[in-house]
Amino acid sequence: MKKFYVTTPIYYVNDVPHLGHAYTTIAADVIARYKRLKGYDVFFLTGTDEHGQKIEKSARAKGMSPKELADSVVVNFKRLWERLNISYSHFIRTTDDYHERVVQEIFQRLYDKGDIYLGEYEGWYCTPCESFWSKSQLVEEKYCPDCGRPVERVKEKSYFFRLSAYQDKLLKFYDEHPDFVFPESRMNEIKSFVKMGLEDISISRTTFRWGIPVPFDKEHVIYVWFDALFNYISGVGYGTDNEKFKKYWPADLHIIGKDILRFHAVYWPAFLMAAGFEPPKRVFAHGWWTVEGRKMSKSLRNVVEPNRLIDAYGADAVRYFLLREVPFGLDGDFSHKALAHRINGDLANDLGNLLYRVLTMTIKYLDGVIPEPTKDRDRQLEELSLKMLEEVDRFMDVQAFNRALEAVWEVIRAANRYIDVSAPWKLSKEGRKEELSNVLYNLLETLRLVAVVLYPFMPVKMAEMLEQLGCPSEPKPEDLEWGRIPVGGKVKKGRPLFPKLDEEEIARRVEQEIKEGEEMAQEIGIEDFAKVKIIVAKVLEAEKVPKTDKLVKLVLDTGSGVRTVVAGVGAHYSPGELVGKKVLYLSNLKPKKLRGIESQGMILAASKGDKLYLPEFPEDTPVGAEVR
Ligand SMILES: [Zn+2]
Repeated sequence: MKKFYVTTPIYYVNDVPHLGHAYTTIAADVIARYKRLKGYDVFFLTGTDEHGQKIEKSARAKGMSPKELADSVVVNFKRLWERLNISYSHFIRTTDDYHERVVQEIFQRLYDKGDIYLGEYEGWYCTPCESFWSKSQLVEEKYCPDCGRPVERVKEKSYFFRLSAYQDKLLKFYDEHPDFVFPESRMNEIKSFVKMGLEDISISRTTFRWGIPVPFDKEHVIYVWFDALFNYISGVGYGTDNEKFKKYWPADLHIIGKDILRFHAVYWPAFLMAAGFEPPKRVFAHGWWTVEGRKMSKSLRNVVEPNRLIDAYGADAVRYFLLREVPFGLDGDFSHKALAHRINGDLANDLGNLLYRVLTMTIKYLDGVIPEPTKDRDRQLEELSLKMLEEVDRFMDVQAFNRALEAVWEVIRAANRYIDVSAPWKLSKEGRKEELSNVLYNLLETLRLVAVVLYPFMPVKMAEMLEQLGCPSEPKPEDLEWGRIPVGGKVKKGRPLFPKLDEEEIARRVEQEIKEGEEMAQEIGIEDFAKVKIIVAKVLEAEKVPKTDKLVKLVLDTGSGVRTVVAGVGAHYSPGELVGKKVLYLSNLKPKKLRGIESQGMILAASKGDKLYLPEFPEDTPVGAEVR
């Protein structure tokens, strides 16, 4: 049996899963499912990268241990992969003990053979952040990019990997394997980078503890990238199940984002060569998403939060859209309107309607029975379908998901035209039973093949479609042939696969949300805040405003006079509770009439949902004290 080993990067647990993670993982899943469908023995690895200074620091800030922080984030990833139907074979965590042993064993081995040596690392160091930065990372060449404080030039002992010794070997490897990096333009980038000359790289740190210790020098922990990259071999059995490792290594495909290409296309093959392993066969670097025409930002991330997308559109539509909309390897724009447009056009109209029409006619004219074709039936759709299978295969081999899907939609559109031209309703009316049977057979069998090749992209919806076509819901390799539909079996109409969406309404809602998010994110200067005058005041009198539920009229002692305000706290506090209480009073608000009473400012309360809380003060807080 042919094997196929595909991976995603392991995701850093300093982050919640976002669109980028989902994109990479969906792509890897579609490849894994497609290869299984083609009869390959597939191993699909994903997981999390859990070591490093950032994790140590965020854990400390949250009052957790680094492992506890990692545990809490891993749950989010696993839950999302379940919702997206990601069919991984194994989920690796770099804190797993088998992985730590492998990393230490290889570190020791490379040290023993001289590829790792102890040297001195010199760099720009930010003491409060405990971080080294390269010159190019610094802001204005002297400030820490994280906290903005000035950095210092610092030297520390560090273990180095002799990357410089691998420059020629890497260049030779690239020449012998022109398909090693996809897309092609990126292969050229990598080659020019290596040709410029490689320096040895620092692969240990002494400034933090949260990492795998260097086995022979406990002062040092192993740098996260050296640790992380080896997940691709520890996760597939190296050191625990060497038979399995031998079967699947080298990896056939590492799918990654373009930001981490250098680690995968330069360092990783060099590490592997040093440790005596074959480099992977291909590294595919995909592009990045903008959102609604804007560069990704914190508030926009929310707009494309993967769980929200699944809630709104369903996992399969999201999977389809991400791989159909933009050629894999290029950057693209994620817009809700474009997604809704794909769902309505490609999925509901082209595919959904075709299925609906063919099932309706089969039920109406043939009692739902899948007809037996005759030898002289026309072969038009059969030829197109076989061509589709070939093309999909060719495109999937180069990870051109959008081209593969285009090839499928050509057949879907041809089948829609075929109905119009062959007019089954006319054949039925004229009693041309044999022709009618042939036409419907051609259509049913074409739909079956379409569902089979689309199954890796949309596993849940295509399983439903196959069931409606009277076929087993999970396709097998032998189903990738013409003529496998169970003749004599029955089709059954189900609910529409892809309900239609209101594109304009969706676009409006998303625009509104982005606007609100941008307003929320708007920052104010200290001079803006200085305009607001808030003081501590004491409630002298309180009475309900008649004929209202919430409004209370308050008379306040402000320390420099008496003011009347109308406050909406009546549902939570009785007038009796308010008298004598100290409150926060916004004193320079323009007066406003409420129910005929002039409110001279307002009092401040915290609220969430339908709960309301007035702040409390120490006994001796003086009336008139100003809040700054
Ligand atoms: Zn700093």
